[in-house]
Amino acid sequence: MGDTSTVSARSGTPAAPPPCSAIVTVGDELLYGETVDTNSAWLGKALTGLGLPVAKRWAVGDVASDIREAVDAALATADLVIVTGGLGPTRDDLTRDAVADLLRAPLREDPELLAALERRFQARGYDRMPASNRSQALVPEGATVLPNAHGTAPGLLLERRERAVVLLPGVPRELRGLFTDHMEAWVRRRFGERLLAIEHRVLHTTGIPESRLSELVEAVLPPSLGPVSLAFLPDPLGVDLRLTVRGVLPQEAAAHLDRLEAILAPVVAPWRFEAKGGDLAEAVVSALRSRGETLAVAESCTGGLVAHRITTIAGVSDVFVGGVVAYANAVKQGLLDVPEVVIDAHGAVSAEVAAAMAHGVARMCDATWGVGVTGVAGPTGGTDEKPVGTVWYAVAGGGRVVTRFARLPAGDRAAIQARAAQGALHLLHERLVAGETPELNSA
Ligand code: ATP
Ligand code: MG
Repeated sequence: MGDTSTVSARSGTPAAPPPCSAIVTVGDELLYGETVDTNSAWLGKALTGLGLPVAKRWAVGDVASDIREAVDAALATADLVIVTGGLGPTRDDLTRDAVADLLRAPLREDPELLAALERRFQARGYDRMPASNRSQALVPEGATVLPNAHGTAPGLLLERRERAVVLLPGVPRELRGLFTDHMEAWVRRRFGERLLAIEHRVLHTTGIPESRLSELVEAVLPPSLGPVSLAFLPDPLGVDLRLTVRGVLPQEAAAHLDRLEAILAPVVAPWRFEAKGGDLAEAVVSALRSRGETLAVAESCTGGLVAHRITTIAGVSDVFVGGVVAYANAVKQGLLDVPEVVIDAHGAVSAEVAAAMAHGVARMCDATWGVGVTGVAGPTGGTDEKPVGTVWYAVAGGGRVVTRFARLPAGDRAAIQARAAQGALHLLHERLVAGETPELNSA
């Protein structure tokens, strides 16, 4: 029965292996890198959400023998194989033939399908359908036709004993439409109770490197996590902890996740933020809103990115007052009242200037909170004392100003700016909800 691993038996009876799926994507353009394979990502989520996780994936070019081999191998692995791409009417569209050949299901023209295709072309104002589109009315013997309400090529579902292959068009919109219209219900019907409950929960963090977070987390994890697994998903702005529970009754899933979250929560608290979309700006805005407070920002090295992050969220005018991109010292002095002597004594990239910027902009905008960011985004302008990546953040409000230093990894300018904007939002978020972040040796 393929090579899916067998889940340990519950209550002494040997469990049937949980069903799984596989994906075969077809198209030279996917191999050349001209098209990014978004279909697999979308299907991966959709199938996992249904409880039919993807065990393996194949990507092949427009070569009939390669398509045959990949589908054959996929059928040996998975209960449902999804093939996308190469169903169109052109000479490079070989999927239908290759799969019909593999499954020894001769192609027959389906009169109803042909009539529907012709109607579709007439409805679009063509007097006749191009001859090449006739191939889209060909159906392998025994296949179920999945009508395509989103384009011309229908989906084709072929069942072989316990397994099934479904051919879907490569056009992402059509693929998604067909999968949602037909396959979701089919999967539920076909696998029913055998589908694995899979649920995720994500804890978002920022301001702590993955390796350090992993040390802290490992120190509190119990020896066995049971049906829950834990993944670290880092990106330049933070690390997400993804908790996944699988193979339990759906009604038990949340309790398993709660248990692990309760263990992790105290450890990650200083760096954690809660936002549906995973955006720290979202968490900052909702904290400000629930406190009925307002924000203004003064930015140098981030050039308005903090303001942009905030204003990307719709409806923030109740909490965001405005901001100043204070690049030149003259603007820091003239608009934000940063004293010239402070700039002369400490330099434009300093705790003192960041603090004065934060104060200045809060006062100027009459906001509860002011944020200041100043740093060296590079690639030029670094010195021994203040190399590229040196940033000072300040948050003024509640009667005091808090500053923080960061030495961001010298990389490209855009990455430094993106991280600096995140760092500024992090310091503000901390003051709004999370409490003080412990000092880290590695920033
Ligand atoms: P059509 O009937 O339009 O010819 P098709 O099933 O033949 O559909 P393809 O010709 O393989 O599909 O691809 C159609 C379009 O969809 C192309 O623009 C292609 O780049 C895109 N596409 C194909 N496969 C994928 C994929 N895996 N991810 C994202 N886009 C894809
Ligand atoms: Mg095509």
